[in-house]
Amino acid sequence: MIYTVECSFADPHSEAEWNRFYSVDKLPALISVAGFHTSQRFKAISAGCPVYLALHTIDGLEVLTGDEYRQKGGGNFARWQQHITDWHRNLYDGIGIAPAVNKDELLVLCATGAEPLIQMGLTPSAMHAVALEKFPQHRWMATMPARKAPPVECLAEGVYLYSPITEQLTGSRAVCPFPSQQAGAYTVTAISDGYLSASLSLLSNIDADEADKMQHDAGATDPAAVHINCYLVRGAGRTILIDGGAGGIKQWGGRLHANLRLAGVEPGSVDTILLTHAHPDHVGGLVDAEGQIAFPNAQVLLHQQELAFWQDDANLSRATERARGNFLIARQVFDGYRETLSTFTDGQVLPGIRAMPLPGHTDGHTGYLFESANQSLLVWGDIVHFPHIQIERPDVSIAFDQDPTLAAATRSRLLDMVSSEELLIAGMHLGELGFARIRQSRGRYGLDYET
Ligand SMILES: [Zn+2]
Repeated sequence: MIYTVECSFADPHSEAEWNRFYSVDKLPALISVAGFHTSQRFKAISAGCPVYLALHTIDGLEVLTGDEYRQKGGGNFARWQQHITDWHRNLYDGIGIAPAVNKDELLVLCATGAEPLIQMGLTPSAMHAVALEKFPQHRWMATMPARKAPPVECLAEGVYLYSPITEQLTGSRAVCPFPSQQAGAYTVTAISDGYLSASLSLLSNIDADEADKMQHDAGATDPAAVHINCYLVRGAGRTILIDGGAGGIKQWGGRLHANLRLAGVEPGSVDTILLTHAHPDHVGGLVDAEGQIAFPNAQVLLHQQELAFWQDDANLSRATERARGNFLIARQVFDGYRETLSTFTDGQVLPGIRAMPLPGHTDGHTGYLFESANQSLLVWGDIVHFPHIQIERPDVSIAFDQDPTLAAATRSRLLDMVSSEELLIAGMHLGELGFARIRQSRGRYGLDYET
């Protein structure tokens, strides 16, 4: 949950000293309290809101009522209390972990809706107040590069910009919040990009009621939501990203960059991007809202047939209206990375990583096999979109599959292989847990997440 503390300071003579105390003494004391995970301070650069904002990630309200918080966090403000005005505290749900905002970035908050932020080209996260003052009750948050910020006098009403005045502190008790597995020389981490909303009616060979029941039986709260994973691969001196998420295109996903930072990775440190294919939910996050490349030092690798398909004007002219948009997004990404883009057909693409063509979903759809004596892992791309349906029913394809029959045949073949070899798998739509094994008994496949 997000805990916000906002105020202004009315005494210019002691403001610098108060700021120093807050940033250098109080913030590290707070982050040492059990249940505090991140803390960062900001100063508003637009008028009309309290001047100072502290943004914390905490477990819940009980953290603020415990003894440890009272000893380390509260009470020591007495000598400045008389100068503090416009003081507001809120606890918000909806965002798991506060974004870390760099020196060259701004935090953007809006209480009137998501729309003003979307119009600024941002991908806002919604939060709603659950405790303390509960005002503003709803807020939308985003981050943006400071150099792209509009002049404050041009901001829509209710939109406020904040510049960070400290780094984000993270609690020593925090752990890497994403599932990870070792695969030979590499550590592979599932980085969530968020969700896209699909529809169970896109599935073929199954009626919507049955699909809905299978989703409910599997515990899905939103049966039509498809989770998007990217995989961060670290080791052998490399930082590799497999697929780039949706980047907020069509309101899909968009969490990749914030989550990469939580995993300790800046965009500039990614040296290689491996693509399973070039659908928008896999390449949208490789460019920013203005179409500029988001990973400036990365070379991009994909299957030769995948690149050829999207570059072929005959395919574009045959495409439906929806699919036309996919061509434009893929081409924008290819164009942005044209200096470093290269293709393969199969075989080893990086040390210990072999490309495995898995055609059907797209022409050049590719899995990546991490080969190791006893820690092999297959990142299988879009073999499934609804794992709780399609692993039990491999014949069920989705409208996103370019060749549904071939996609189903590839799925069946692969399920047979990974279950008989007991191979660890990862998939872009396998779910937030990111890794699983497939078991087979009496001709039926089942999914066991690996945690
Ligand atoms: Zn996909």
